[in-house]
Amino acid sequence: MLQIHAVPAFQDNYIWMLDNGRDAVAVDPGDAAPVEAFLRLRNLRLAAVLATHHHADHVGGLPALARRWTCPTYGPAREVAADLDLRLSEGERFTVPGLGIELGTLDIPGHTAGHIALHGEGLLFCGDTLFACGCGRLFEGTPAQMVDSLAKLARLPAETRVFCGHEYTLANIRFAEAVEPGNARLAERRVRDAAKRKRSEPTLPSTIGEELATNPFLRCGEPEVIASAERHAGRPLSGPVEVFAEIRAWKNSF
Ligand SMILES: [Zn+2]
Repeated sequence: MLQIHAVPAFQDNYIWMLDNGRDAVAVDPGDAAPVEAFLRLRNLRLAAVLATHHHADHVGGLPALARRWTCPTYGPAREVAADLDLRLSEGERFTVPGLGIELGTLDIPGHTAGHIALHGEGLLFCGDTLFACGCGRLFEGTPAQMVDSLAKLARLPAETRVFCGHEYTLANIRFAEAVEPGNARLAERRVRDAAKRKRSEPTLPSTIGEELATNPFLRCGEPEVIASAERHAGRPLSGPVEVFAEIRAWKNSF
């Protein structure tokens, strides 16, 4: 029986730990120490490390974990990340060591140039590209790339559970409500997720279906999102890429 736990790291990162009671796999371990503590507490053996992109808060712990457990490491083909054994790109599938589940790869550039997502078994690990009710900043990519990348994730089955890299959800919902004040699903989501944070629980995972209903960055074709973006821009915008670029820039200074 596969279990998935959020291991907090740094200020607001989550390292996702998958385990079957004996073997475990770490996704985006920015720091080795909390992973080691988790493994020790549950008497688990680390069988592999998976990484979505090269940022230090996602791969900083990878070299130490790979050394200590002599386990294979998987990550993006197009990014220079230390100590990767297997470099994945669009369409590649692999069986996760120790757990036996099969995951596929999507190239999702935008936050970084070579960012990948891993998906399968109803799970999506999307690093800093799709957040709960938000999306990552464009450090190395263009709005058009990010719109394409988010569209790939949005096409996954609605019940797919979304595991992203940070606990940003409540701030993202506040912004989403500014963009789309008429979206009743947002108010429901705020109440539910605020209650989780009050209990010190992660708001994650969410689902693709919930993101489609509430995440403004997946809703750049909705009339209210377009109208808010145009009001903020002070000019008419043509098409989802311009709408996306405007609300991404708006969010940066929100
Ligand atoms: Zn990042």
